[in-house]
Amino acid sequence: MKFIADGMLGKLVRWLRLFGQDVTYIGDFSVDPKEEDDVLLNRAEKESRILITRDTDLHRRALRESIESVLIEETQDVAKQLVKVSKSIGEPIRGDIEDSRCSVCNGKLKVAEKTSISEEVPDPVLKENERFWKCVDCGKIYWVGGHWENMAETIKRYENLKG
Ligand SMILES: [Zn+2]
Repeated sequence: MKFIADGMLGKLVRWLRLFGQDVTYIGDFSVDPKEEDDVLLNRAEKESRILITRDTDLHRRALRESIESVLIEETQDVAKQLVKVSKSIGEPIRGDIEDSRCSVCNGKLKVAEKTSISEEVPDPVLKENERFWKCVDCGKIYWVGGHWENMAETIKRYENLKG
C-alpha cells in the first residue's frame, strides 16, 4: 500500500512514514501550486498510490477518475487523521520502528552499528542508547527516545480512538 499526500498534510506524512508507510509528499517537490492537483492525480495513477487530501474537490475528482482517495477533514489532531486513513484503507496502521521509514525523505531505515554512527550523534545520546537506525537515502539517524516517546503517546491515543 502506497500513498501520495497533498501539500497541506506534512505532519500526517511524517507520521505515516514513521509508521512504516510509503508516502510521497508533494510538499517535498517544487510543484507550481496551480499544477499540484494534476501532479498528484498523475502520480497517484502511475505509481498506484492512494491519494490523501484535505481538498474536497480534489477528492471528488480523484474518485471520478477511479483513483483511490482518502479525504482528511480533521484539521489538527494527527491521531484522528491516522484513524481516518486506517479506516479508509481497512487496515490498522501500526507504529513499529523496525518497520519504519525516514520521516524526512521516505527512505527505508536500516539498523546501524553503534560504532558506525558514533561520530554522527551527540555523546549523551550515544551513551544512553544501544540501538540506532539510519536512513539508507538521506543518512538521518534514529533512535528510540526523545521523539519516539512522544510518538508512543500519539500511538496510544490513536489505538484508543481506533477502538
Ligand atoms: Zn531519509
